[in-house]
Amino acid sequence: MALNVGPLRKVLELEREKGYADTAVIGGLDKFLRRWAGQAMESITTPRLMTHIRRLRLDDPKYASLNQRQRKKWIADIFAFLESIKLESIKTEKAVEKPPPKKRITPPRRRVAAVSQATGRSLDLPITSLVGVSTAMAAKFGHLGVKTIRDLLYFFPHRHLDYSRTIFISELTDGEEQTITANVWQAQVTMLGGRRGTEAIVGDETGNVRAVWFNNPYIAKSLPTNARVVLSGRVRLFGGRHVFESPEWELLEDKELVHTGRLVPLYSLTRGLKPRQVRKLMKQVVDRFAGQVEDFLPLNLRERCKLLELPQAIMQAHYPEDETAKDGARVRLAFDELFLLQLGVLGRKHEWQESQPGTPVSLEKPALDTFLKSLPYELTAAQQKVLKEMLSDLEKPRAMSRLLQGEVGSGKTVVATAALLAAAASGYQGAFMAPTEILAEQHFSSVGELLSRTAGKVEDEDNLRRFSGLLAKPLNLALLIGDLKQASKQAVQQRVREGDIDIIIGTHALIQKDVGFNKLGLAVVDEQHRFGVAQRSALRQKGFNPHVLVMTATPIPRTLALTLYGDLDLSVIDELPPGRQSIKTRWLKQAQRASAYAFLKKQVAEGRQAFIICPLVEESEAIQARAAVAEYERLSRDVFPDLKLGLIHGRLSAAEKDAVMHKFRAGELDILVSTPVVEVGIDVPNATVMLVESADRFGLSQLHQFRGRVGRGSQQSYCMLLAENPSDIGRARLDLIEKIQDGFQLAEEDLKLRGPGEFFGTRQSGLPDLRMAKLSDVKLLELARAEAIRLFEQDPGLKQAEHRLLSAELARVWQAGGEWS
Ligand code: ADP
Ligand code: MG
Repeated sequence: MALNVGPLRKVLELEREKGYADTAVIGGLDKFLRRWAGQAMESITTPRLMTHIRRLRLDDPKYASLNQRQRKKWIADIFAFLESIKLESIKTEKAVEKPPPKKRITPPRRRVAAVSQATGRSLDLPITSLVGVSTAMAAKFGHLGVKTIRDLLYFFPHRHLDYSRTIFISELTDGEEQTITANVWQAQVTMLGGRRGTEAIVGDETGNVRAVWFNNPYIAKSLPTNARVVLSGRVRLFGGRHVFESPEWELLEDKELVHTGRLVPLYSLTRGLKPRQVRKLMKQVVDRFAGQVEDFLPLNLRERCKLLELPQAIMQAHYPEDETAKDGARVRLAFDELFLLQLGVLGRKHEWQESQPGTPVSLEKPALDTFLKSLPYELTAAQQKVLKEMLSDLEKPRAMSRLLQGEVGSGKTVVATAALLAAAASGYQGAFMAPTEILAEQHFSSVGELLSRTAGKVEDEDNLRRFSGLLAKPLNLALLIGDLKQASKQAVQQRVREGDIDIIIGTHALIQKDVGFNKLGLAVVDEQHRFGVAQRSALRQKGFNPHVLVMTATPIPRTLALTLYGDLDLSVIDELPPGRQSIKTRWLKQAQRASAYAFLKKQVAEGRQAFIICPLVEESEAIQARAAVAEYERLSRDVFPDLKLGLIHGRLSAAEKDAVMHKFRAGELDILVSTPVVEVGIDVPNATVMLVESADRFGLSQLHQFRGRVGRGSQQSYCMLLAENPSDIGRARLDLIEKIQDGFQLAEEDLKLRGPGEFFGTRQSGLPDLRMAKLSDVKLLELARAEAIRLFEQDPGLKQAEHRLLSAELARVWQAGGEWS
């Protein structure tokens, strides 16, 4: 198909006839030309044509602002151009002819869903439809999650270099990033450090300076003598003279600077994509397409929150005019992320709570009171408060969605048990899900123990307990983990389906497809930070919109809680049971290992027990297990020949793990050597020493979890962290954990150290990506949440006309991963 120049020619002829008065087309020539150029550029294959269109500024015409003489000249130029291209062929709307992109196997990134809208449709075209993007380049972008033009627009630089201030050569100082504008006197290929490179001499009215590019002889060709060039980069002093070393460079033509002389974007790239190439492409894409992005925020909201318009924000995020514009862009884009996230989680909550009726649990007071009275201790005030909050939720006909946060060792298990009992007492099933099998087994045994205090008779089968003294009918408690023999797993599943099991405890196995419940009323998820939103929702779908309680000992700063768990109500146990002492924490070096072992022996001699956590070798369970076996053997043989050691790692069968934990809990073992699997939840009050190998390799919250394994009884406890030559960040973590006992405070510090993105990868949590938003943006997050709630109250279904775009954007952002489907 030929480039459709007919209408253009006609219009221009008419305009010429009418004396260049901009009256040939309604709406003005500029608008017409821009549209024409847009279509033309979408279909052009040769760079030459593109260059022409650009050079003539057909894509960005300023006809209206020209005087008559300029108009005449310009139109004449266009006619000349049209003559010259008569024979050019063009590519037709390539994307339309292509089959739809293949279904991806890996989960797509959030921004990728292709929802074409009435306008801005080209944004969802694959990037191969852009001139200059080859399939090979597109594949490289594909690895970065960038498939469509829209993805490119949202492929933000991770930072900007400030090359915005141009100085004179005479003002150059060594060591700093600086920018000059100069004439090229000479540029040539030369040998630099034994390889071919480029050397150039450039000058301005204040002097000359040398620039070198190692390993890059090609630049010489691009710097013709007398060309005007902008150089940005670091200057060093060599033999008393300044030299630019591999600066960014750019010829000063009458187009906007891309690589120099401004705030220059730095994109995180993978191998094969060249920064200059990407920057250039991004500039073109942003200039051309950012304007097509429709602003999905309702106008009144945008004005109230004083946010930039979306196209403007996207442009400024890539190629900001100045720092203020850059910040404004970030705020707008971060707001979008947080706002959409909040709308999503609130929508989820609304759906759970309103669209399906919950299961009101009528509390059997007597059973609950009996249970509470039978406990060997009194609940702390915080436990009582939280229990009350939960029980009142349970009685309501809308499903509870509650997050229970409580410091390590604050006693969450007993509160959860009370709630599970409440559900069972009124005829519903309860599920208790733990992140590891060891923890599931521990819960099975400790819930069993707590219940048995009030039960007249306990029948004890392998993974089943029957309590007959608590309720009118016997209460059945079962354990379901992946490790069980197939036959007994199936037997348990069968009984769960039939409603014969009242409380079921397990791991992820609980949310597997083949587990069906009879009458699930309450699901408790322990150590929630290990579970994603997706798993939470899978559990929900198991029953009849059950009440859900998620618990975590990983203290989460408020901003993060609102982000990750915005769909949940929050309860906090902010108090430890009485008598707990602070745990003495020391970072030890290799040289202090012997004294650490001696200390450990002394504690054992006093009747206490200890954990030794093996180094974090690798993510592979098999390798970790092998390392743990070796360490266990070494310790048993060489270090503690007189003590009783146990070993636990992920490769042991459920029965083996259970046997070891049982012995340790019963005091038959002095030291438990373990891979990091004991990280969460394990509760052995007589243990007073935690020794962690390679402590610098663990994160702060993990170290805090390890430390939380001791100090659970009334004895003074100790945490020894072995680390030789920690990295700076490792050292910072060790210093913090030595000083700080409070989990929340540690979490805040961790957030500062690690940066929000990594704190909890939002990816694993099943939420949309946060690229621009920082979790330290407390104000912005709260604003986004408040606006989301406000909008939700006005128009929960986003049905109103002015929310159409927003509704589409919400669907696009949330549905990409399909985790809710
Ligand atoms: P976490 O909140 O870390 O899950 P657990 O539920 O494992 O903590 O409880 C930690 C220990 O504290 C357990 O040994 C438990 O028996 C004990 N405990 C719980 N509540 C109290 C209390 N109110 N008074 C004394 N000890 C308690
Ligand atoms: Mg726990």
